[in-house]
Amino acid sequence: MTADHQGFATRAIHAGQAADPRTGAVVPPIYATSTYKQDGVGGLREGFEYSRTKNPTRQALEECLAALENGRHAFAFASGLAAEDTLLRALLAPGDHIVFPDDAYGGTFRLFDKVAVKWGLEYTPTKDSHVDGVRAAIQSNTKIVWLESPTNPLLNISDIAAISQAAHDAGAIVVVDNTFASSYLQQPLNLGADIVVHSTTKYMGGHSDVVGGALVVNDDKLAETLAFHSNSMGAISGPFDSWLTLRGIKTLAVRMERHCDNAERIAEWLTRHPRVTRVFYPGLEDHPGHEIAAKQMRRFGGMVSFQVSGGEEAAVEICDRARLFTLGESLGGVESLIEHPGRMTHASAAGSPLEVPSDLVRLSVGIEDADDLIADLTQAMGDRH
Ligand code: PLP
Repeated sequence: MTADHQGFATRAIHAGQAADPRTGAVVPPIYATSTYKQDGVGGLREGFEYSRTKNPTRQALEECLAALENGRHAFAFASGLAAEDTLLRALLAPGDHIVFPDDAYGGTFRLFDKVAVKWGLEYTPTKDSHVDGVRAAIQSNTKIVWLESPTNPLLNISDIAAISQAAHDAGAIVVVDNTFASSYLQQPLNLGADIVVHSTTKYMGGHSDVVGGALVVNDDKLAETLAFHSNSMGAISGPFDSWLTLRGIKTLAVRMERHCDNAERIAEWLTRHPRVTRVFYPGLEDHPGHEIAAKQMRRFGGMVSFQVSGGEEAAVEICDRARLFTLGESLGGVESLIEHPGRMTHASAAGSPLEVPSDLVRLSVGIEDADDLIADLTQAMGDRH
């Protein structure tokens, strides 16, 4: 049976992770080496020359990431933003234009708006990521249509297949940030996207103990360009980080099922809470993206956002009062996190088209017992004193 025919959970545990031929170790070793002995000048063993270019631990992670996204090539980076920066510089030139959703991750927007514009990038944030909005934003110099689905933090859904078609018709390529869904819930390359981006810091690593990023593609020429820039720019994932990420990925399938179970329960509970004015969760039937999410995702994920009555002060107070939900940025780990996007993860978007509502609370629902999580939210949202 080839890896192509294996189920997701099997690939997560085995792709790129054959037992070590010398010792039989079932876990790929951490190759903490910068360089490799050559058998005579130019005599490389399996192409290993210098670890910025290629390292066996990182290679194991990259093979696994590619297998999980049904891609042919993956590249692992020091962070999600390092992956994004490498992608932009590899594929864009001054004067090129990028279209992206107006509620994309604040750090991605900051990279476009504060870093990439300095060397000539133009961009248009689309009001919604509906295919008509994207089509209207595409210009003759548009090179990339960037999607996040679900988005951070409003959980908007884009129709990846329809938008990929529209972008390709206009000669642009489609990048999907798959961080919120993880490879388990959604595989954008299968839906027509050209490049998948991950902050592997989140669900892929899954334990809040490592920062990393990845790009996954199918096209060989695109892969060649990305490999060249990864090596030339050097923002690669080190062997320890690659190993930790790979270790986390082994349990991705079971973790995601539990994240989804818990998030579905909490989202439904929030819809009935008197202090909650709106719940954002694509699994709810009245979510505007519910049908598309049901079509392109296996389940609806572990992220839930909600607005509360009482404005910013009330939202901040709920975050401060949570105990089992840890107050902190990031997401996708086994432990539940709560945060106020306006003052925390998305503070850099203040005053921009990507500013988030001030009464918004974001939950990264972990894999603890759902009853305990609901008990904590109950006390955090109890009467204000
Ligand atoms: N994309 C999304 C959707 C994110 O949430 C994040 C980080 O929060 C990033 C990209 C950036 O990843 P990193 O923090 O690993 O650089």
